[in-house]
Amino acid sequence: MQNFKLAEIVINWYKKNFRNLPWRPYDFKQKVNPYFVFLSEFMLQQTMVKTVIPYFLKFIDKYPKINILANAKLDEVLTMWSGLGYYRRATNLYLSSNIIHNELSNVIPNDYASLIKLPGIGDYTAAAIAAIAFDKETVVVDGNIERVISRLYKIESKGNFLKKEVKQILLANIPNKQNSLFVQGLMDIGATICMPKIVNCKICPLEKRCEVSFSNHAIDYPKKAVKKRKVIRFGDFYCLLNSKKEILFLKNEKNKLFNNMYILPSKGWQKKDDIIDFNLFYRKQKINCGIVKHSFSHFDLEANIIIYKFGNKNFELKSKQKFIKFNALNSSGIPTLYHKIISKILKYI
Ligand code: SF4
Repeated sequence: MQNFKLAEIVINWYKKNFRNLPWRPYDFKQKVNPYFVFLSEFMLQQTMVKTVIPYFLKFIDKYPKINILANAKLDEVLTMWSGLGYYRRATNLYLSSNIIHNELSNVIPNDYASLIKLPGIGDYTAAAIAAIAFDKETVVVDGNIERVISRLYKIESKGNFLKKEVKQILLANIPNKQNSLFVQGLMDIGATICMPKIVNCKICPLEKRCEVSFSNHAIDYPKKAVKKRKVIRFGDFYCLLNSKKEILFLKNEKNKLFNNMYILPSKGWQKKDDIIDFNLFYRKQKINCGIVKHSFSHFDLEANIIIYKFGNKNFELKSKQKFIKFNALNSSGIPTLYHKIISKILKYI
């Protein structure tokens, strides 16, 4: 499938048209900062570039080097991550940075085989870091690249078969040097020219070689695999509110989802319930607030929200519990689901 100089065209285009992103050097001739690539690739898993940028800037301001990130407290890193979602990424980023700090003298591994051993780094992320930060000849397929290649070669297959075909094409076209620019060039063509619903063939460097250029069918590629319907889980969520308008949160150490983060007591939707003994409270009032819906990658959640207003002056907090004031919730590193729940609760109190 190497019937024209795909890499050369893409690299030449990239040199003049690359997007300025904060984890990239200002000039493609400058050295890439491997820590910036490492950090950005964790953040970009499942999240769009424009959402990641402010978080990335915040992180490099606070943790400009990997040893500083490794020496931070996990709670603080999770708070910094709050709002970006998929919190396991933050825990894995922290664990990986600790391995690199403690065992690898703060040097980020430069090859796929070593990168993939780190927590939270799978096939895609290992290939992307190796290619982008270290110019290694790895095959990188993200959504943008898959779209561009599927249109360029008018690939009819779907799902994993499509991915396999795209990988084979890229493997046959990896340049001997500047794979970093090739990978990022394909990403940028997908992000700025060959977009999911808007296709700008007029300014595309691949237009002469593309099998669907200027055709109405371009947006039909890549062909979509039929998605499985997600299961719906149902759970009860409890908001225990004291007279100072503070809400009781528990530190989750039972379930993988939101591990080590502060969450509301709840039951019925995870393997283990995060519930407390309600008899400890002198309950004044119970308010049913209805349902909040939230989508996770593998399931949808219907959360039934219940407020308990209570007045128990003698209530003693245990070590994994804390009260958080409404106006401190944004800086407390609680997951987006709980922000949604609190917005609902605010209408009832
Ligand atoms: S020519 Fe058009 S369809 Fe083909 S890769 Fe470029 S923008 Fe996409």
